Amino acid sequence: MPKTTARSITAEIRRFMESPANTMKNTDDEPAWAAPLVGLSSAADPLYVFYREDIGDFFQPPVAFLAHKYPDRTFDPERATVVSWILPQTEATKRDHRAEKFFPSERWARTRIFGEEVNVALRRHLEAFFDARGIAASAPQISPLWELKLSEKYGYASVWSERHAAHAAGLGTFGLSDGLITPAGKAHRAGSVVIDLPLKPSKRPYDTHTAYCLFHKKGTCGKCMERCPIGAITKKGHDKTLCSSYVDMTVEYVPRHYHFDGYGCGFCQTGIPCESAIPKGLRPKGG
Ligand code: SF4
Ligand code: SF4
Repeated sequence: MPKTTARSITAEIRRFMESPANTMKNTDDEPAWAAPLVGLSSAADPLYVFYREDIGDFFQPPVAFLAHKYPDRTFDPERATVVSWILPQTEATKRDHRAEKFFPSERWARTRIFGEEVNVALRRHLEAFFDARGIAASAPQISPLWELKLSEKYGYASVWSERHAAHAAGLGTFGLSDGLITPAGKAHRAGSVVIDLPLKPSKRPYDTHTAYCLFHKKGTCGKCMERCPIGAITKKGHDKTLCSSYVDMTVEYVPRHYHFDGYGCGFCQTGIPCESAIPKGLRPKGG
C-alpha cells in the first residue's frame, strides 16, 4: 500500500469529485460541485479547544469521533489530523442563483439536497479509503455522535462544525453572514474526516477569523445584508432563527417548481464580492 500523505489524500478527494458520483441529478447529470479545496489541521490545534469554550461545552474535540467509532482504542490528538474540504458551487449554479431574489434557483436547491448527498458519499468514501490503509477514520457529520445543540452565545449549533474545521485548516475566514470565505469564495459546502495519522497541518494565511470580510476589515460592503430576502443579516451579524424560518418557507416552493423534495436559500453566498474569491485587497500574499 503506498504511503498516505497530504498529497495522496488531496488526489483521492479530487478523483472522487471528478467521478460520476459528483452529480446534481438533473437531466444532464451535471456535476454538483467544482474542483475541491483541501486543508489539514492537527486534532491538537488549540482552536478546537477555543471552539468548545466559545460555542459550548457540547462541541466535541476531533478525537471524540474516533473514540466513539473505535471504543476499544485510545487516540492521541497530537497524532491525529482533521482533513477538511470545500466543495465550491459551479459557475452555472452561481449564475442562476445570482439572478434570483427571493426563492432558490433549481440548481442551487439541487446542490442543497443532491450536492449534500455527494458530500456525504465523499465522507463515506474517505472513511473506507483510510480504513483500507489501516488508518482509523471518522467523519463527524455522519457520526452517531453528531447532533444539533443550542448554544447560549450563538443559538442553533451542533457538536461539530465543518466550517470551523475548515477555518482551522487554513481554508478561509468567516464573513458577516457567518459563511466561510475561502480562496474559491463563500458559495460552497464543506466537509471533514478525522484520521488517526499525524500529518503536517496546512498554513493558516490569516491572523483573525474575519480577515477576508470587507465589512469586518474595512467597514465597507455589506452586500450579503442586501441579498438576504428576510433581513436575517445585519451589522450585528447573522440571525440564525430568522434565517431558518425563511429556509422553511422554501420547503413548499422547491417541490412545486422543481419537482423534488428540497429547500434552500444561500442568497448571501451569491452576487456578492466574496462569492467566488477572497475580495480584492484582502487576499494573502501569493493568494
Ligand atoms: S458580502 Fe461583503 S460583508 Fe458580506 S461576508 Fe462578503 S465581504 Fe463580508
Ligand atoms: S441563507 Fe438566506 S435567509 Fe439565511 S442569512 Fe443567507 S440569505 Fe438570509
